[in-house]
Amino acid sequence: MRLEDYPKEPRFAATVLKSERITDEGADAEVRELVFEVDRDEFNFEIGQSIGVLVEGPKEFGSSLRQRLYTVADTPSAKGDAKPQVTLVVRRCDYIDDYSGEQYAGVNSNYLCDRKPGDQLFITGPFGLPFTVPEDKKANLLLIGLGTGIAPFRAFIKHIYQDIGDWEGKVLLLYGAQSGLELLYMNDKRDDFARYYDEKTFEAIQALSPRPNWADPIAWDYAIEDRSAEILNMLDDQHTYVYVAGLVPIRDTLDKLFGNMVGSSESWSKKKSDLIDAGRWVELLY
Ligand SMILES: Cc1cc2nc3c(=O)[nH]c(=O)nc-3n(C[C@H](O)[C@H](O)[C@H](O)COP(=O)(O)OP(=O)(O)OC[C@H]3O[C@@H](n4cnc5c(N)ncnc54)[C@H](O)[C@@H]3O)c2cc1C
Repeated sequence: MRLEDYPKEPRFAATVLKSERITDEGADAEVRELVFEVDRDEFNFEIGQSIGVLVEGPKEFGSSLRQRLYTVADTPSAKGDAKPQVTLVVRRCDYIDDYSGEQYAGVNSNYLCDRKPGDQLFITGPFGLPFTVPEDKKANLLLIGLGTGIAPFRAFIKHIYQDIGDWEGKVLLLYGAQSGLELLYMNDKRDDFARYYDEKTFEAIQALSPRPNWADPIAWDYAIEDRSAEILNMLDDQHTYVYVAGLVPIRDTLDKLFGNMVGSSESWSKKKSDLIDAGRWVELLY
């Protein structure tokens, strides 16, 4: 669905409870975790879904509301007297104008990153298909994320180990970022995944760029070199489900990587379409 087709109504007021930078100070990228309280009794969303954030566009283009989507990064809060809460992980974005070649600040991400506790904003949604957790606790889960694509997996892994518990299948998180400082929830500042490292079924593999400041591609192949046989075995197992989240270019990167692993791009595209048809390969790309 195109961005302009997402409905801007109904919209709900929400109040910022918290805004915290979650990338190390040394990292080039500023990524923040924001928590809002929605001003209504019910706002139901599921892991893997996104919410819309509305921002008044620049005045010179008339007063059009701009909508951008953000994936929920935590499990829905327990129902009770308290208002529903939503957690987002937002990267402060810039873009280069095609005509002038100048760099501008992205409107919605900067708006969000500048919000302070107590500020009000308007949200829409939720949108998109949820990342459904298989009912079988023996299912293996291969979670592949890039940059802010960690958001749904933070919620997903918390749900598996804290809400469901006793997960018996293998849960392998492959997470790519430009540098160690930009690994979200896995850096010196915050390591939310550390609480699951004791779970014998959970493992995280990090893929970084070999020369972080040079904008080199992330070395996924290097990171999973010794594990490719194991990952292919997982894919052959009917009980394995793959979830991919992050920026669109990860699709080509993974196609190349898995193409090399299985021996050719043709075999990989056949295998991938079988996985998609069986509901065992789900993507959330933007
Ligand atoms: C389904 C969906 C879920 C999304 N979930 C998230 C999320 O959880 N967190 C998040 O930060 N963004 C997410 N995005 C992207 C977000 O909607 C906006 O596109 C982004 O915040 C830029 O908006 P902007 O108005 O600031 O700038 P724009 O002018 O719209 O874009 C500025 C530039 O930023 C690039 N860009 C957009 N998003 C990212 C990103 N996450 N990392 C690096 N570069 C980016 C764009 O390609 C563009 O070149 C999601 C998008 C979709 C469609």
